[in-house]
Amino acid sequence: MKKYLLLLLTAALLTTTAFAADTPISGSKGGKILSSTPLHAEFFVQPDRKVSITFYEALKQVAPSGQEIKVIAEAPMGKVTLEFEKDATGYISKTALPAGDGYRIVVQIKNDATAKSQNFRVDFHTEICKECGHPEYACTCAHAAGGDHSGHGH
Ligand SMILES: [Zn+2]
Repeated sequence: MKKYLLLLLTAALLTTTAFAADTPISGSKGGKILSSTPLHAEFFVQPDRKVSITFYEALKQVAPSGQEIKVIAEAPMGKVTLEFEKDATGYISKTALPAGDGYRIVVQIKNDATAKSQNFRVDFHTEICKECGHPEYACTCAHAAGGDHSGHGH
C-alpha cells in the first residue's frame, strides 16, 4: 500500500516537471510543445489546417501579449509563409497550411517586436501515432530515447 502511494506521488511529480524534461510532451490541445523562452509554445494544427500557437508558463496557459509569430511551411510546391493574428487564447494563422504533409515547418517566435526571433523546426506529419494517439508531428512517445518508465531519484 505504501509503495502504491509512493508510485502515485512519483507520477504526480513527473507530471508537474514534464515541461522541464527532454521527452516530448503534448500541450493541452494535443499539439507539439516548442521549448521557447521565457514561455513554452504549443504548435497545433487545427482540422481546418490553420496553425494555432498558445503560450504556457509551467502547465498554465498564458494569454497572448506582444509576441510575433511567423510560420514558414517548406511545402513541396514551394515555401509558404503564414502570418498570425491574436485570438482569445493565443495566435492563429490567417491562412491554412499548404496541402499534403511530410514537409518541414519553421516556427518563428519573437517575444515582442524588438526581440530576437527563436526558430523551431517541426517535421509535419499528420498521421496519427498508434501509441500516443497524437498526430506524428506532436508524438509524445520519444521513439528514439528509451521511455521514462524508470524510477529515478532526485
Ligand atoms: Zn506517439
